[in-house]
Amino acid sequence: MDDPRQRRLILLDEHARELVRGAPDWHAYRWELIGGTATEPAKLIRVDGAVAPPLTRGADAGTPDWSRIDRETVRTAYFTPAEHQDWCRRWEENTGKCAHCVGTGLILVAWTHSQPPEAVYRPCSNCQGTGVPARLQGAVIASLAAESRAAHG
Ligand SMILES: [Zn+2]
Repeated sequence: MDDPRQRRLILLDEHARELVRGAPDWHAYRWELIGGTATEPAKLIRVDGAVAPPLTRGADAGTPDWSRIDRETVRTAYFTPAEHQDWCRRWEENTGKCAHCVGTGLILVAWTHSQPPEAVYRPCSNCQGTGVPARLQGAVIASLAAESRAAHG
């Protein structure tokens, strides 16, 4: 999943895979926000996924070939936006990465109309472009310092 347009979906995918105890190659193929209105946020997130063999040719080679889905592995996960937010917070603590930009420090703003199209980014405002969530930056620096002390004896 190198496509930056897919980045924000990586954690949705991972959260759902954990809930359905899917295999490492289990991926979401559909997601839906349930119960939201124009003025109210969604109440539930539904994620459908399965295991599918990777495409072997073309521009999307390596990504799942959803036309050859393994029916035995189809699962549906449901969670609330609040549960997903909590999950993302734990993910940040476990990985030390900013969940907003998945640790890249960059947020996709637009695609150019050139051929081939190019992605236009801005630094992630959640982590000031560092890829590390602000609330963890002190902890990460402390652990780096500890590692550096260990490395230098
Ligand atoms: Zn970020």
